[in-house]
Amino acid sequence: MTTTPTKKGSAAVQARRVLVLNSGSSSVKYQLLDMNDRSRLAIGLVERIGEATSRLLHTPLTGGDAETRERTGRIADHAAALQAAAEELAADGLGLDSPELAAIGHRVVHGGLRFTEPTVVTDEVLKEIERLVPVAPLHNPANITGIRTAQALRPDLPQVAVFDTAFHTTMPEYVARYAIDVETADAHRIRRYGFHGTSHAYVSRKAAELLGRAPEEVNVIVLHLGNGASASAVAGGRCVETSMGLTPLEGLVMGTRSGDIDPAVTFHLKRVAGMSTDEIDVLLNKKSGLVGLCGDNDMREIRRRIDEGDERAALAFNIYVHRLKKYIGAYSAVLGRVDAVVFTAGVGENSAPVREAAIAGLEELGLVVDAGLNAVRSGEPRLISPNYARVAVAVVPTDEELEIADQTFALVGRAESAGQEMPVGQVDN
Ligand code: ADP
Repeated sequence: MTTTPTKKGSAAVQARRVLVLNSGSSSVKYQLLDMNDRSRLAIGLVERIGEATSRLLHTPLTGGDAETRERTGRIADHAAALQAAAEELAADGLGLDSPELAAIGHRVVHGGLRFTEPTVVTDEVLKEIERLVPVAPLHNPANITGIRTAQALRPDLPQVAVFDTAFHTTMPEYVARYAIDVETADAHRIRRYGFHGTSHAYVSRKAAELLGRAPEEVNVIVLHLGNGASASAVAGGRCVETSMGLTPLEGLVMGTRSGDIDPAVTFHLKRVAGMSTDEIDVLLNKKSGLVGLCGDNDMREIRRRIDEGDERAALAFNIYVHRLKKYIGAYSAVLGRVDAVVFTAGVGENSAPVREAAIAGLEELGLVVDAGLNAVRSGEPRLISPNYARVAVAVVPTDEELEIADQTFALVGRAESAGQEMPVGQVDN
C-alpha cells in the first residue's frame, strides 16, 4: 500500500514559480515560469533521449541576452534528461530545489472522460492515466514517465496533470459518439475525445479578449494549424465540436497525418495491398498529410516550391486548404452564429497564404480577409478582417505552456486558499 503524503498549502504561499514539462516518447520540453508576472525564466528541450545523438538546448531568459546553451551526447532516459535540465537551471541560479518552486505542471495527452479539469497527481490519478494507455499508446506512457521522474526529483511538490482532452469533454454526446455499434464502442472506450485542448481553450479565450467581449458571449472557430492540426467550435467558452477523434489522426490534413479518410481504405490496404496493421498506422500517421502528398511538411518549403511552379506542392496546398474550408463551413453550421475564426500555431500564425486561401470565397458566411492586415508579421493577437466584416478573422499566437502554468498555479492557489492538504509526489511502485 502506498501512503499519500500531504503538505499544508500555506507552506508554499510564497512559492510562485511553476515548471512546465511536456514529455514525449524521446523528448522533454520544459519551461520555468515566474507567476508573479507570468514571465519565462528559462526554456529548454532535450531531444533524441536514449540515442547517441541526444541534445539539450537550454535558454535562460533572466539576463539581457537570451543565449542558448547546447549539450550533446547520449542522455540515457527521461530521468537523466530532467537531471540535465535541472543542472542547466541550477547554473542560472534557478535550481529546481528552490523553495520558490510551487508546483510542476505536466502536459498529459489523454485524460479520457474522467479528467475534465487540471488534476493534482496522486497514485490513483496515475493509475487512471495508465489505464488510458490503450487509447493513447504513443503519448500517455511518455507523460507518465515524465511525471514519475519529476516526482522522484521533487517528492515534496504537487505535480499537476493538465490534459489535452479536458477542454473537449463538454462536447455533447451526439458529437462525441461515433455512429458504430454502441456495445463495441463502449467496451473499448471508442469515441471522439479531441486533442490540443489546452491550445483551443487559451486561444478561444484570447480571441474573446481581442474582440473586447467575455468568452461566455462569443462563438469562435479555432484552427490550430501546427504539424498536428485541429479545428474546434467553441460556443460561449465551451467546446461543442472538434476535429480530432479517438486519436489525433482524424480531421484536418496535417504535416504527416491524413486526417479524415474513408475507414474502408484501411481494410483495402490490408486485403488488397497486403499491408499489416502497423504498416497502415505508420502510413496514415507518419507518411501521409502534406509529407505524403508532396514530400514536404513545412509550409514555408511548400510555398517556395509553389512559387517555382511545382505542381505536387500546389496540389498538396489545395488539398490542405480545401479541408480547412470544409471545417469552417461545417462549424459555422454547428455554431449557427460565428463571431470569429481564429488561426493559431506554426502554420496558422505564420502562413498568410494559408489564411487567405482558407477564407477566400466565404463572403456569404461573412468572412473576409484584408490582404494588408494578413501580411503583417507580429507575435501579438490581431484581427486580419476589415472593419466592415460581419465575422472577425483573427490570428492569436497559442501558448500551451503558459496555459498549463496558469492552470497549475491556479489549482495549487485554490487549494491553498481553501486550506486544503495538497497531495504531493509519491512514488508508487
Ligand atoms: P507542432 O505541432 O510541432 O507544435 P508548430 O505549431 O510549431 O508545430 O508548427 C510547426 C509548423 O509550422 C512547421 O511544420 C511549418 O509548416 C509551420 N511554420 C512555422 N513557421 C512558418 C512560417 N514562417 N511560414 C509558414 N509556415 C510556418
